Amino acid sequence: MQSVRILVHHGRGACISYSSRTFSTSRRADQKSYKLVVVGGGAGGCSTASRFCRRLGKGQVAVIEPSEVHYYQPLWTLVGGGVRKFEETVRSTKDVLPKECDWIKAKVLNFDPDDNTVTTSDGQKIKYDYMVVSMGMQLNFNLIPGALEALKNDPQVVSNYAPWTVPKTYPAIKNTTSGNAIFTFPNTPIKCAGAPQKIMYLAEEQFRQTGVRDKVNVVYNTALGVIFGVKKYAARLMKIVDKRNIKVNYKRNLIEVKSDKKEAVFENLDTGEKETFTYSMLHLTPPMSAPDELRQCKKLVNEAGFLEVNNETLQSTRYPNIFSIGDCNSAPTSKTAAAVATQGGVVQKNLCALMDGKPMLKKYDGYTSCPLITSRGRCILAEFDYNGNPLETFPIDQGKERWTMYHLKNDVLPFMYWNALLTGHWNGPGFYRKAMRLGLSDGSVKQ
Ligand SMILES: Cc1cc2nc3c(=O)[nH]c(=O)nc-3n(C[C@H](O)[C@H](O)[C@H](O)COP(=O)(O)OP(=O)(O)OC[C@H]3O[C@@H](n4cnc5c(N)ncnc54)[C@H](O)[C@@H]3O)c2cc1C
Repeated sequence: MQSVRILVHHGRGACISYSSRTFSTSRRADQKSYKLVVVGGGAGGCSTASRFCRRLGKGQVAVIEPSEVHYYQPLWTLVGGGVRKFEETVRSTKDVLPKECDWIKAKVLNFDPDDNTVTTSDGQKIKYDYMVVSMGMQLNFNLIPGALEALKNDPQVVSNYAPWTVPKTYPAIKNTTSGNAIFTFPNTPIKCAGAPQKIMYLAEEQFRQTGVRDKVNVVYNTALGVIFGVKKYAARLMKIVDKRNIKVNYKRNLIEVKSDKKEAVFENLDTGEKETFTYSMLHLTPPMSAPDELRQCKKLVNEAGFLEVNNETLQSTRYPNIFSIGDCNSAPTSKTAAAVATQGGVVQKNLCALMDGKPMLKKYDGYTSCPLITSRGRCILAEFDYNGNPLETFPIDQGKERWTMYHLKNDVLPFMYWNALLTGHWNGPGFYRKAMRLGLSDGSVKQ
């Protein structure tokens, strides 16, 4: 038996001793037990496993992940835009997880945080001393009547959000020669809030290059009231949509797809009225949520169903031996792989401190980033914090469309994802941001 002192982080920097608990690390035949269990082997889970295998060694870390393959999702925008191949975004889970971890190829079905156990889809009960939950987001296409049928049967209804639909996007763009090309943003939190419009800019560019632009109306129907949540970048994007004659309709939520009639039905969220648009191409972004298995555990989640964490330490607000990284946690920032990198560094520091009985001092400032591709060769690199204040890495105006930022997105970031983020060596650009300003500023700009 091993005694572990638990520290809970309260508010700004103060850490107080919470309780003294005893965890069993012995193994019963029917129950595996690990020092650390990581739920999910995506961006957050894989990088966490790498970080902690280095510290804890072989056999101490288990990753519970059902999928045989791991996707680099941020590249799906460029796959949909016809720039990159889908195969470039796929690797086998076995190859990206650290060799020292035990990969349990199953889903977590139930969490029992009072017993420090999870139950998996293959019937195992796994015990942990500490747990990091990184289950990503669930795509809820089923909440839009007709959407799944349309995605399966209509080549002109596409989505960059699921691996089985991404390869449809570029052919649909090429097939569009007239009518309405409609791009949607749903009425829920989503991952990469820039992606629904990035693909629109690539499509619009393609329509111009192939000489059909004057016959295609490009329409962005968003459930939001703004084009982007950060003022600086929203102002630049508004100039771009005006210049490129893209019609933006706010507070429009997609509620039905009638693919037999080529119609998309939207609800006007201000008036409640329904509006029907015919489409020649429809790129839909599905409503999203935390995965059902997590949402069902009311002891862990907030009202919206996300694992409730302290915004600074990323520790569960209720169970001190549980942390969460990435899209499935409640940290009120834009959900991206860039956020996962910075959150990974914070969780590593704080969980190591907790394991050593020391105070948790590392704080997450909400750093996230969205490379807003506006054409093949141009990108606005949005980077910001919890308050929506720009937190730009480079000492230049990143609100401008630049080929350097496109190069970063297309060539540098994929390399960093596979080689630095997944291996737990990339904590985000905070250090470089300061270094580029000779340590004189952290680069944050109040709006
Ligand atoms: C089209 C698109 C464009 C994007 N563009 C960008 C971008 O430009 N920049 C950027 O930084 N980010 C971007 N992102 C977002 C980025 O991919 C995610 O934010 C990131 O992958 C989140 O990491 P995660 O570990 O939280 O979730 P994921 O990487 O999605 O991993 C979650 C894992 O949990 C597993 N899982 C789910 N349920 C269970 C369960 N019950 N039990 C066990 N395991 C489970 C899943 O199988 C999955 O492997 C984009 C995403 C998309 C779809």
